[in-house]
Amino acid sequence: MVITTGDIGGNADMRDYYVPWANEFACYYTTMDPNGVPANTGDGHRMAIWAGGHMELGPLAPISHHMGGPLGVDSYLQLNLEGKRFMNEDIPGQPIADQLSRQPESKDEKERQRGLKSWQIFDSAWPEQIAHMPDGHGYVNHFVADDKVDQFKTVLSGFGLGYTTKAMVEESTKSGGGVIANSIDELAAGMKLPVAEVKASIERYNELCAKGKDDDFGKDSRRMFPVAKPPFYAYPFASAGMLVLMGGIQVNNKLQPLNADNEPIEGLYIAGNAQGGRYLVEYPITVAGISLATALSFGRLAGLNATGKNIEA
Ligand SMILES: Cc1cc2nc3c(=O)[nH]c(=O)nc-3n(C[C@H](O)[C@H](O)[C@H](O)COP(=O)(O)OP(=O)(O)OC[C@H]3O[C@@H](n4cnc5c(N)ncnc54)[C@H](O)[C@@H]3O)c2cc1C
Repeated sequence: MVITTGDIGGNADMRDYYVPWANEFACYYTTMDPNGVPANTGDGHRMAIWAGGHMELGPLAPISHHMGGPLGVDSYLQLNLEGKRFMNEDIPGQPIADQLSRQPESKDEKERQRGLKSWQIFDSAWPEQIAHMPDGHGYVNHFVADDKVDQFKTVLSGFGLGYTTKAMVEESTKSGGGVIANSIDELAAGMKLPVAEVKASIERYNELCAKGKDDDFGKDSRRMFPVAKPPFYAYPFASAGMLVLMGGIQVNNKLQPLNADNEPIEGLYIAGNAQGGRYLVEYPITVAGISLATALSFGRLAGLNATGKNIEA
């Protein structure tokens, strides 16, 4: 028998028991069965445990990478709700989500409920800057000028894929609860952050940009752009949503679950998100397709072994 029943993200009790810290992430993408009932409820995990198996040791890794705002997770200045800079912003979406977890919550109940943690801030020079941002998951690197929009219709109407226009950034800032302002005072007021703190943080950041060296957080100088040319933009970053929750049953290299003595349980194989031993602590968003690819590869191997082959991963 092969267990490939997916993750435990849709099972509140298992989440609370194994990964209580993941409760801050809304689970937007629960797998559904044909009747619309959540199916990522860890049924396979529990079947394997009933058969004598055990969960891998944690910390388990939620896939909770941030997708950012109009300019994705581009490495622009971010200020927390105290108006303070708090990280080297030149990191991918998953570590951004991790950093946001550690930031203070909003005192406003509505903002706290939606998980508001920081604001990404850039100025109107962004079209010349985004090509210098990293190229990867959640980044926006390509500016399409108004007279070129027709040539990029397909990509612009899709998931985004890193291309954007001035109109898209403005619309998306407004519709996502962002602020566009002609002065830093106005920007701070729009974000409802302490004006003096915001001004001091931006002044300091601009000073570091001019110096070409980020003495505070060590950001790559190629991505240090001052907040200097109005209008200024600010976009709210809330806690990320959770796609799936990585963490499964401890298996050996043949995909057999192990009992309490770490001996294989004969006749049973596990692959995909029900399988342990793949990710720990943090999902590596920089490795494109790693979840699907390992589910497919180990799934094939588990199937072959269940038919009598004896292949080790
Ligand atoms: C929105 C989103 C985007 C993603 N993007 C990427 C990406 O770009 N790259 C990447 O590598 N990964 C991505 N992932 C993660 C990836 O999709 C999953 O990790 C992967 O699909 C896991 O495969 P799996 O076969 O283990 O589980 P699943 O795909 O969850 O399949 C498990 C199946 O088991 C069924 N099942 C559960 N319980 C039972 C039961 N008791 N009886 C019968 N059937 C049952 C479920 O209905 C489901 O069909 C994404 C996930 C989401 C939600």
